[in-house]
Amino acid sequence: MKVCKFGGSSMASGETIKRVASIIRADADRKYIVVSAPGKRFAKDIKITDSLLNAYAESRKGTPLKSLLAPIRERFEGIAKDLGVEEKINLSAIFTEIEQGIAASPIPDFAAAQGERLSAMMLAAYLGFAFVDAREIVRFADNGQFNAEYTNDIARKYLSKKEGGVVIPGFYGSTSGGQIRTFSRGGSDVTGAIIARAVKADIYENWTDVNGFLTADPRIVENPKPIPELSYRELRELSYMGANVLHPESIFPVRKANIPINIKNTFEPENPGTMILPGVLHHDRLITGIAGKKGFVSILIEKSMMNNEIGFTRKLLSVLENLNMSFEHLPSGIDTMTLILADTEIGGKMQELVGGIREAVSPDRVEIQSDLALIATVGHGMAYKPGTASRLFTALSRVGVNIKMIDQGSSELNIIVAVSGEDYEKAINAIYEEFIN
Ligand code: ASP
Repeated sequence: MKVCKFGGSSMASGETIKRVASIIRADADRKYIVVSAPGKRFAKDIKITDSLLNAYAESRKGTPLKSLLAPIRERFEGIAKDLGVEEKINLSAIFTEIEQGIAASPIPDFAAAQGERLSAMMLAAYLGFAFVDAREIVRFADNGQFNAEYTNDIARKYLSKKEGGVVIPGFYGSTSGGQIRTFSRGGSDVTGAIIARAVKADIYENWTDVNGFLTADPRIVENPKPIPELSYRELRELSYMGANVLHPESIFPVRKANIPINIKNTFEPENPGTMILPGVLHHDRLITGIAGKKGFVSILIEKSMMNNEIGFTRKLLSVLENLNMSFEHLPSGIDTMTLILADTEIGGKMQELVGGIREAVSPDRVEIQSDLALIATVGHGMAYKPGTASRLFTALSRVGVNIKMIDQGSSELNIIVAVSGEDYEKAINAIYEEFIN
């Protein structure tokens, strides 16, 4: 039995929803369907979730909700008409309720969730499947934290009683008091994974608008090759570093249950896409993929005899903890340690951070370098194979890219390098040429 999640571009219009329905009907195992809100139909279009969040924000500034919700309602009326389900869904009553709900809501989550809710209602009505509201089966704590085990329990019990196919809205759930809460953006992927775990699916199909993961970002490398197979751990590395086909948190529920994920393309259903599997995969390729991100800062901390000072790292890291910042890497030398952090973590607090470091560990020198990019070269294939790092560094030196930091854990799953932001694209292309092309 399969759990299928369809993303925003698959749910964007009546026409694309009909494609979705034909994919579901083509396989009787596709019983549990999770959907996103309607996304973009064309490049300049607005995602329903963005319109809803905007309506929430503007209503707080005094714009009447009715007028803010009108274009959203029109879009759903169009979809209902295209699908011929107008009679089955009372949009007028639903929008009155949405308007009241948003007006009464102290947080934007209720508003944000409505796109998924309506999208699921539309597809359920069209397919003749049952609509199951995610608020019944996805549980958050009052502080907004997702409650994984409790959800797994109630979702399993609730869904086991359902016969036939069901459609469930992604992205949101509720607290035990009934308040709607959402995951972070793109969170319908997480819902799909939660449902796959709860019903013990054989496979979690994640239907999107690309043929799975690519070996590099197509905005940087021309026509990168697809990745046919990926392990959970490789996926985690690549998606953390910016390969954003799948929400990075969607891996946890399925990994617990050893359920493979298949990324598929709604607009090219014959394409096998990418299969994400538990365990270590032994493919013939050395490198599975390359991903990276810009926007990092390094802070070099130098102090003589640092290596003898017991508790040095703890004191240093407690500065970050007190400022509520997380770091990416911490390479160290004998008398130096370098913190690598994302710009977004530091916010405007660089002075506080450096001041805190000076106070906590009295360094001889602190040196800041901004505008760094991190690049992860990922693959189980490189473990126990001498020469991978050397090829990587040679490839970078060949194109004149200076490496500012190197980090390879002993898992040998990835090699991470920091380069200057302006070298980012050049570096990725050089690594791609060396290992993949
Ligand atoms: N609709 C939500 C978003 O735009 C969630 C999702 O699509 O997964 O982020």
